[in-house]
Amino acid sequence: MDELLRVARLILDSNYMVVFTGAGMSADSGIPTFRGSNGLWNRYRPEDLATPEAFMSDPVKVWSWYLWRISKLSKVSPHKGYRVLKRWYEAGYLKKVITQNVDGLFRRVGIDDVIELHGYIERARCMRCGYRDIIYNLDRSSLPIICPRCYGLMRPDVVWFGEPLDRNVLDEAYRVAREADLMLVIGTSGVVYPAAYIPYIARDSGATVIEINPEDTPISDIADIRLRNGAEKSLVEIDRELKKILKGLER
Ligand code: NAD
Ligand code: ZN
Repeated sequence: MDELLRVARLILDSNYMVVFTGAGMSADSGIPTFRGSNGLWNRYRPEDLATPEAFMSDPVKVWSWYLWRISKLSKVSPHKGYRVLKRWYEAGYLKKVITQNVDGLFRRVGIDDVIELHGYIERARCMRCGYRDIIYNLDRSSLPIICPRCYGLMRPDVVWFGEPLDRNVLDEAYRVAREADLMLVIGTSGVVYPAAYIPYIARDSGATVIEINPEDTPISDIADIRLRNGAEKSLVEIDRELKKILKGLER
């Protein structure tokens, strides 16, 4: 059977489909991945910018870089693949999204309760009192951003290199992975831990794993089906098959 048709059938037969995404999910929206040839880190050294040490030694520089990334984000929009996932979510086929991305594109397409393992770039967190707010609500006229509650230093609310993930967020992701009977793994290199455990947890709990990625990754070995086109094209094509099946059933 055609692979796209197989995936569409699996989706219709699933009880708890989970989507797990990495930077590749947003590549078709024009946001560079970290490890691809067009990766952000080819131009900027991550150890200079995305670590707690870098922030403490130069918070203005780190904030400037984040505000620049945020301003670039405002110029892109979620691609058609995101909109397909949104429809599957509303129709009840898709139960939960777990993402490593910080770009907030799932929020923008209208999927609000996404599990963001590595945080959300448009939000800041006070290092003194823990207050969190969207950066647009905060005074950015002089950097670094200062907490409106306690005047403490605020930082981007993302997980930096060398930092642990939020325990509650990670536990929730593991729980969802165990519950999945079908997992779509889209655009992740599968080398960033602990996030990379998630497809293995799903597989070990009996889920069928489908990988969407133009390249081979460690996850390819455990995937039942591998689609080698990009995220947008693959999702649009699966959606087309899904509609064909449903039309056939209705007749
Ligand atoms: P990664 O950069 O390590 O890997 C990206 C993967 O996407 C690769 O396997 C690549 O083959 C694949 N890919 C490239 N183009 C694709 C396409 N059009 N469709 C589908 N797949 C495609 O990303 P990662 O695994 O997410 O891990 C890295 C870390 O980088 C994460 O912690 C994440 O927070 C962070 N990150 C996030 C963003 C974002 O928020 N958009 C962007 C860059 C990096
Ligand atoms: Zn504070």
